[in-house]
Amino acid sequence: MNILIINSGSSSIKYQLLEMPSAKIICLGSIERIGSTDAISTYKTDSHKVEKIYEIKNHKAGLERITSLLLDPEMGVINTTDDIDAIGHRVVHGGSDYTKTTLVTEEVKKKIKKLSPLAPLHNPANLEGILMSEEIFVRAKQMVVFDTAFHGTMPTKAKKYAIPNELYEQKGIQAYGFHGTSHKYVSEKANEYLNKENTKLISIHLGNGCSITAIQDGKSIDHSMGFAPSNGLVMGTRSGDIDHSLIFYMVDTLGYTLDEVKEHLNKKSGMLGLTKFNDLRDIEAEASKGNTECILALEMNAYRIKKYIGAYTAVMNGIDAIIFTAGIGENSSLMRQLVCAEMDYFNIKLDDSKNDLRSSTIREINTNNSKVKILVIPTNEELEIAKQVYDLLK
Ligand code: ADP
Repeated sequence: MNILIINSGSSSIKYQLLEMPSAKIICLGSIERIGSTDAISTYKTDSHKVEKIYEIKNHKAGLERITSLLLDPEMGVINTTDDIDAIGHRVVHGGSDYTKTTLVTEEVKKKIKKLSPLAPLHNPANLEGILMSEEIFVRAKQMVVFDTAFHGTMPTKAKKYAIPNELYEQKGIQAYGFHGTSHKYVSEKANEYLNKENTKLISIHLGNGCSITAIQDGKSIDHSMGFAPSNGLVMGTRSGDIDHSLIFYMVDTLGYTLDEVKEHLNKKSGMLGLTKFNDLRDIEAEASKGNTECILALEMNAYRIKKYIGAYTAVMNGIDAIIFTAGIGENSSLMRQLVCAEMDYFNIKLDDSKNDLRSSTIREINTNNSKVKILVIPTNEELEIAKQVYDLLK
C-alpha cells in the first residue's frame, strides 16, 4: 500500500511517501516559505535529490508542485495519482472528539475548521492540505491523525484547569496536549526496548516546539503543553510556562495590544527572546565562547525540564526510563547532560561517554548502575502516521 503523509504548516508542506507494511520510504521532501517568490522545494528518492527555488503562491500550488515531482517522467515514483492508496494528514488539534485516526468526512472537516481558533497557526493549513489532496488524489482514502489524540487518556484531574466548571463543561477549555504522534512512537519503541508493557516513562520531545509527557502503561497521563501548544517547556520562540498575570500587566500597564503580547509570547520568546538565536546549535556555539546570555538560557531550559521530570516522577510514583527525542533531544549531548546532572536522588545517572556517542537508532546512555534508563530514541512521526493509516485500512 502506498501511503502519502502530508504535514501542512502555516507556510510549509512536508511530505513522505511510504510503502506499507515494509515502511520503505519511496520519496520525501518539503516545500517551505509558501506564499513567497523564493519558496524552497526539496525532493529526495533513492536515486535523486533536488532542491529548487520557485514562486509558490499558496498551498494548492505547493501540492501541485509535489504532485508533479511524484509524477515526473525522470525522477518520479508513481505513474498516475491513482497509485496513491491513502493519504495520512497530520492535524494538530482534534479537540476531545477525536482520540483516534479517522477517515475524512464532511463532518470531520467541519470539526477541524471549528477547532481552528484553538490552533490558528496549524488547523487551517491542515484543512487546506486535506481539501487540496481530495481534489488531486481522487482515489486515495484521506485519513487524519491528530496530534492531540494520544493525550485523550489524560485523567480529568490532569487535564482540567482550576477555573469555573462551565468553562470546561460548556466551552471545552482544558489541556489537550500536543506532539502526541511523537510521544506515542518513542514510548512504544521504549517499551519494546525495555521488553515490558507496564512501564513508567517520561518522554521529552525537544524540537522547535518542546513538550514532555508522563506515560504510564502506554498511556499519556500528563503533559506539559495545555490548551494550546504554548505551555510548559522553554521552546525555540515560545515562552512555555508563565504567570498569566504578566499578560494583563503588559496590556493594562505597559500598553501592549493583545496581538502584540501574543506575538511576543509565541514568536519572540523562548530561546530566541533570551539569546537572539533560535537554533540551539548557534546557542551552544555562543555559550562555548563564553556568551553569558546563551549559557543562562541553556541552564533555564534544562532547569524547566528537570522540574517536570520531578513532577512526573511524583505523579507516577517512580520511573523506568526517560526518553530524549526530536532535533535537540536526539542531537544535543549538552542539553541531555544539563538535564541529567545531579539527578542521582531520582536514580538517574548519565554516562558521559555514552552520551557523546552518536547514532541514528535507539540507544541507552545511562551508567550501568543507574536504575532509571536514559534513552535517546529518534522520533518518526511520518512512520507513526503511516502505521496508523495502514492499520485502519489493511
Ligand atoms: P521541528 O519541531 O521543527 O520538527 P526538529 O525536531 O527538527 O524541529 O528540531 C529542530 C531543532 O533541533 C533546531 O532548533 C536545532 O536547534 C536542534 N538541533 C538539530 N541538530 C542539532 C545538534 N546537532 N545540536 C543541537 N541542536 C540541534
